[in-house]
Amino acid sequence: DDANPDRSVAFYSQDMNKGMQERMRIESGLRHALGNGELVLYYQPKFEIASGRLVGAEALVRWMHPERGIVPPGEFIPLAETTGLIVQVGEWVLEEACAQASIWQRSGIAPFRVAVNVSAREFTPSLPERVATTLRRYQLDPSWLELEITESTLMHDVDRVTAIMDQITALGVSLSLDDFGTGFSSLSYLKRFPIHTLKIDRSFTMGIPADGSDCAIAGTIISMARQLCLRVIAEGVETLDQLAFLRGAGCDEVQGYLYAAPLPAYAFEKALRENWAL
Ligand code: C2E
Ligand code: CA
Ligand code: CA
Ligand code: CA
Repeated sequence: DDANPDRSVAFYSQDMNKGMQERMRIESGLRHALGNGELVLYYQPKFEIASGRLVGAEALVRWMHPERGIVPPGEFIPLAETTGLIVQVGEWVLEEACAQASIWQRSGIAPFRVAVNVSAREFTPSLPERVATTLRRYQLDPSWLELEITESTLMHDVDRVTAIMDQITALGVSLSLDDFGTGFSSLSYLKRFPIHTLKIDRSFTMGIPADGSDCAIAGTIISMARQLCLRVIAEGVETLDQLAFLRGAGCDEVQGYLYAAPLPAYAFEKALRENWAL
C-alpha cells in the first residue's frame, strides 16, 4: 500500500500546496507590511580594534508583525528574493538607512558608515542612479554609506557587475563583501572588483579559538586582505577569546554580540551619545 504511486503523489502535492500557501501568505503579508510601515531597521555597531572607535553600523531589517511580533529577516528575505519583492524591500531599506544616516550626520556625532545589505537581484544597472538620488534627497555625504554584497552577486555577468560597482564607488560609496569565504567564486575577483572591505563570515568566527581550521581560515583571510590593501572585519564576535585572536591576527574591525546586538535607532543613538567604544 505504501508503494502506491498515486497515493504518494497525492501526499506530495498536498505538502507542496501547504508550502505554497504558506509562501503566498508571507508574500502578501510582506506586501502589506511594506505599505503599512511594519518594516523597521535595527543597527549593529562595528568597532575598529586598534582605536576602539565605533566606525560603522550595519542596518538589519525586521518586520514588526501585528500578531507575530518581531519577525527576523531570515524568515522573509529568502522568500522576498525568490519572488522578486526584495527589490521593493531593498528600496525601502536604502531610503530608510539614508534618512537615518542623514539625521546622525546633522547631529554632529563623529561620522561612521551605515551599511546596507544588497541582494544579488537588486544589483542592477539602475542601482547606482537610485543610490545617487537617495544621497541627494537626504543631502547625505557618500562616505556615510556602504553597501554589503555577497559573492553570489559577483557570480553573475562579470563585466556588467564591474560596471555597476565602478559607478557606485565613483559616487564615494564603499562596497564590502559579506559572508566572505562561504561562496564558491574565484579569488581573482578580489583583484578586479573595487571592494573596500572583506567580512569574515560568522561560521568561521564561531570556531575561534577551539577549531584549528576556522582559525586557519580566518587568519588566512586577514593576511590576504592586508596584502591586497583591503580592510577586514569579523562578524559574529561573541567572546573575548575571539577578539584576542582577531586582534593578534591583525583584523581591522569587529561586529557581534560581545559588544552589541542590532538595536533600534533610538537605542543605538543613546549608546552613541554615551561615547560608545570597544
Ligand atoms: P548578515 O548580513 O550576515 O547579517 C548578520 C546576521 O548575524 C544578523 O542577523 C545579525 O543580527 C547576526 N549577528 C550579529 N552578531 C551576531 C553574533 O555575535 N552572534 C550571532 N549568533 N548572530 C549575530 P539578522 O539580523 O537576523 O539577519 C540575517 C540575514 O538577513 C543577514 O545576514 C542578511 O543576509 C539578511 N538581511 C538582513 N537585513 C537585510 C536587508 O535589509 N536586505 C537584505 N537584502 N538582506 C538583509
Ligand atoms: Ca551583512
Ligand atoms: Ca554577514
Ligand atoms: Ca553571515
